[in-house]
Amino acid sequence: MCEKCFDKEIFRFESESDFSAFEKKLEEKSKFIELINSKHKYLNDCHYAYTCKNCKINWWLSIPENAWRGYFLTENKAKVHIENFKKSDAKKKNGCLVLLGILLLILIISLFNSCISKSQKFEKIKWNKSEDGFYLYRENMVEDLTKNYLKKGIKYEKIISLLGKPQNLNDEKQNTISYELMTDYGLDIDPVEVKTLKIKLTKDSTLLNYRIEHWQK
Ligand SMILES: [Zn+2]
Repeated sequence: MCEKCFDKEIFRFESESDFSAFEKKLEEKSKFIELINSKHKYLNDCHYAYTCKNCKINWWLSIPENAWRGYFLTENKAKVHIENFKKSDAKKKNGCLVLLGILLLILIISLFNSCISKSQKFEKIKWNKSEDGFYLYRENMVEDLTKNYLKKGIKYEKIISLLGKPQNLNDEKQNTISYELMTDYGLDIDPVEVKTLKIKLTKDSTLLNYRIEHWQK
């Protein structure tokens, strides 16, 4: 650096007028400052390279554009400057990737949890547990119940001893007993979703088949 070129380095041009003033100065000093490469590249950063005929120092100029504020630095400073903003770019990208990874992990864990909590072993005591008229475990236990307990041919008495009294509705078909699994009222006083276990019996009161009725408004 010398008085013939510039005695100050610019790490960023704060405004358009700032840059215009600089351009004017550069023009004035064109006697000593010479453009040696208009497309010089360093770490993918493209800039103008100048040299000072007087002190032989090289200057790199990056023109501000939109959010990019440019720079006018001696070669060594410019290299460090470019390396720094490449690094912070990479950090930002890595930060985004880490965040994305964490979100994905949370999603996987919650999916995994919801799979686990959806299904639980049938327990006679829990079957009739309710809170404010809502059965707490029935929906989650019904898979195990139907798979491992409600075998074809088991007697009505056995079913009653397992599940308690059925909630038969008036319009229930004959030989079918039903158990409410869940009722969702949403924000309404009328239900918006109902799941019911329906067990069909033979004439001799043994289990013929069952189905889960899912009604949604
Ligand atoms: Zn100089």
